[in-house]
Amino acid sequence: MNNLSDSKTIKSILSNHGFTFSKSLGQNFLINPSVCPRMAELSGADTGIGVIEIGPGIGVLTNELCKLAEKVVAIELDKRLISVLDETLSEYDNLKVINADVLDLDLNQLIRDEFDGMEVVVCANLPYYITSPVIMKLLEDKLPIKAITVMVQKEAAQRICAEVGSRQSGALTVSVNYYAEPQMLFSVSAGSFMPAPKVDSAVICLNIRREPPVLVENEKKLFAVIKAAFAQRRKVISNSLASGLLIDKTKIMEILEKAGVSHSERAEKLSLQNFADIANNI
Ligand code: SAM
Repeated sequence: MNNLSDSKTIKSILSNHGFTFSKSLGQNFLINPSVCPRMAELSGADTGIGVIEIGPGIGVLTNELCKLAEKVVAIELDKRLISVLDETLSEYDNLKVINADVLDLDLNQLIRDEFDGMEVVVCANLPYYITSPVIMKLLEDKLPIKAITVMVQKEAAQRICAEVGSRQSGALTVSVNYYAEPQMLFSVSAGSFMPAPKVDSAVICLNIRREPPVLVENEKKLFAVIKAAFAQRRKVISNSLASGLLIDKTKIMEILEKAGVSHSERAEKLSLQNFADIANNI
C-alpha cells in the first residue's frame, strides 16, 4: 500500500500518470498524514455506514474512509484521476468511483442506487471554488444523510459556524443553520497541502436537522429574503430588502412591522425566526 500523504510518493504516482495539478479544479492534495484519519473518524464512517466523498484526488482521504465504512462512493470530476485512483485504491472492494461533476448529479438517486438502506454521511476535502454551491446543494436536495464533514477555507468555516445574529454571520450562516447545526472541528495549516494554497483551512461538521428550527410557508421566499438582506449588509434591512426583492419601500415597512423587525436593523443582527417571519409576511 502506498503512503498517499507522502509528497514524494504523490509526485511519483502523478508523474507516472503524466498528471499536472489543475488550479481551476481546486486541486490541493493533503500531505499531512494526521488529517485524513482524524477526518474519517469524525465523519461517522463505520460498519453499516455509507459514505459519499466529493473530489477524492489521488485517494488519501478515500483510503481512510474505505478502512472504516461499509461502502464509499467517491465522485471525481477530473477524468485523469480515475486511472490514478484505480491504482492507489485497488485493494478496496467497498469503493465505487464515479467520474462526474457533483453539481450535476442527482444525489438522491445515487443514494437509493448505491446505499440500499444504509445510513449515509458525506465527507470531503472540498474544491474551494465551489464550497458554497456544493454545501447548499447537499442541504437543499434534502438528502437522507446524517452529517456532512468537510474541509473548507478557514474563513468560510468561520462564516458557516458563526452564530446567527452575530457580526460574523452572513447569508451562508443563516441558510446552513436552517438545515443543519454547524460545528467547527479543527484547523489545518496551508502547509498541509501540495501545492500549498495561500490560506489555512478548517474541518467542519454539519449535523443535519430532522426538522427546520423555524416554520416557513415558502422556502424559496426565505432564501430570497436572506440573499437580499445580506447582498448589501451595510444598509438597513428596509433598504436592502426593498432593492433586493424589488418591492416598494412602504410595502417593505409594513412587512417588517408585521414581522416585528425594526426597519433600521442590519441583516447580521436578525435571527432565523426574524427571517422566517419576514418571508411568511411577504
Ligand atoms: N481529497 C483529495 C485530498 O484531500 O487530497 C483532493 C482534494 S482537492 C482539494 C479537490 C478535488 O475535487 C480534486 O481532486 C478535484 O479534481 C475535485 N473536483 C473539483 N471540482 C469537482 C466537481 N465539480 N465535482 C467533483 N470533483 C471535483
